[in-house]
Amino acid sequence: MRLILFFFLVSPIFTNAQNNYPQDYFNPPLEIPLILAGNFGELRSNHFHSGLDIKTQQREGLKVLACADGFVSRIKIAHFGYGKALYITHPNGYTTVYGHLQKFSPEIEAYIKKQQYEKESFEIELFPSAETLPVTKGSLVAYSGNTGGSGGPHLHFEIRDKEERPMNPMLFGIDIKDTSKPTVSAVYAYTLDENASVNKSNSKQKLRLIPLKSGDYTTESIEAFGNIGFGIETNDRQDLAANSNGVYNIQTFLNGNQNFEVDFSVFSFDESSCINQFIDYEHYISNRQRIQKLFKKSNPLSILKPSLNEGVLTIEDSTASVYKIRVSDFKNNASFVTINIKGNKTTISNPKVEKTTPYYITANQSTNLKSGNVSVDFYPETFYENFYMDFNVNNDTLTLHKDIVPTRKNFTISYDISNYKDPDKDKLFIARLVGYKKYPLYSFTKRAGNILSTSTKTLGTYALATDTVKPTISALNFKDGQWLSNFRFLKVKINDTLSGISNYRATVNGKWILMEYDYKTKTLTYDFNDDIVTDTKNDFKLIVTDNVGNSATFEATFFRK
Ligand SMILES: [Zn+2]
Repeated sequence: MRLILFFFLVSPIFTNAQNNYPQDYFNPPLEIPLILAGNFGELRSNHFHSGLDIKTQQREGLKVLACADGFVSRIKIAHFGYGKALYITHPNGYTTVYGHLQKFSPEIEAYIKKQQYEKESFEIELFPSAETLPVTKGSLVAYSGNTGGSGGPHLHFEIRDKEERPMNPMLFGIDIKDTSKPTVSAVYAYTLDENASVNKSNSKQKLRLIPLKSGDYTTESIEAFGNIGFGIETNDRQDLAANSNGVYNIQTFLNGNQNFEVDFSVFSFDESSCINQFIDYEHYISNRQRIQKLFKKSNPLSILKPSLNEGVLTIEDSTASVYKIRVSDFKNNASFVTINIKGNKTTISNPKVEKTTPYYITANQSTNLKSGNVSVDFYPETFYENFYMDFNVNNDTLTLHKDIVPTRKNFTISYDISNYKDPDKDKLFIARLVGYKKYPLYSFTKRAGNILSTSTKTLGTYALATDTVKPTISALNFKDGQWLSNFRFLKVKINDTLSGISNYRATVNGKWILMEYDYKTKTLTYDFNDDIVTDTKNDFKLIVTDNVGNSATFEATFFRK
């Protein structure tokens, strides 16, 4: 009887809630054992990872199979992002997504190529009807690859619900062996109002972490007062891979009462950028380490579960409290961190004072900042919290704070360029100056008369830059006048410094040919199996244009029999 009672009390908190998702509906998309390079919810730059990154044995071309019956509902081919991606909608309402593909099954490939030749574009997005490309469970739909923003061969795999929200695929019985607990690598204490203190300080404190034999942790005990919170660096390793992935769930308890929970089961794409408010963004920008904040400060993220004080602890004088952090992976292996807190109202030595400027930003209002020829527009809810912004314009250089404050929305930077000479105006773009050398990074720039504008989410230093140099083009696997009868591919390298490549157009004897662009190798590839080239003597022509309109033309003749 006692045991049963114990189970009832503890199970709702400590085990993964019994889920209602179908467990045997989806087969794994690959025929090899599933080893993850990345898991669901993992912390990435500006987003939470929305699926599983399945390793493909360091190679491309593995068969990708439909996880269940359904139909191809969307195909997207893009230079960046998921590269070549396939979406299958299933009768139960879920959609599975397969990304970074090398190519598609012959039937799907033929369907896409037809549309690409009609639209004369490699990048394409298609929404076939339910009857066009039906698939059955386990049928070949594509081959794994490394296209788009992929740093090595792997399959990006997602399961989305009817609202297009990515869900943790492991909720559907996709099984990954994992028998070890998450690792905690750092714990920080934060003061959350001006009277609060931790160890006589009102700055963030890194706590000395003490690993215990059990695999759990404790820290040095702390003295604190007022509203405080904690942050943690943690990750999890699965059995079959050496790399670390994200954890599944974090809960915190003050004197036994739960006061915070984050749960990586499901989120929406439109809230994914809120990761920058969830982590200590300033710390991440300066140290490249992601501290997950265990208190919900001005963050609409739905993975942060409603809880009593949203993770904020109010520590009173002359008290003793125990704070526990529980970190678990999907298999419910859990690590605990125990922190003893003594309530002690003390004077703060060397108090940290917030730097003030004349430009106070109120997060829920719109703000226009203007100086010289530069104007910046922030819309309501561009930021999560109010703060004093650094703003300065010197000639064409705009100092717009530093990239240490997370943003929720894009804002607009506009430059009036009427004081430039007309021919020069065409070559100007707005650049964000990055790194120690202040390299001008192209920020997508629109022009309306004498106004250049860019929409961005990143604070920092901006300037006007000029690009007068056209792109470069060079043949990679052939020479002008060569016979290419036995060639399968025609390969060309293209490049543009400063503003970057905007578009390219290749023709043979005046007919458009599909050239696939890989930005990582800067290579354009034509596949002779497309059967566009049928003549013996062929004039190849390629025009490449950069983002300010400088264009380069490359011409060569080749022969085929
Ligand atoms: Zn991925």
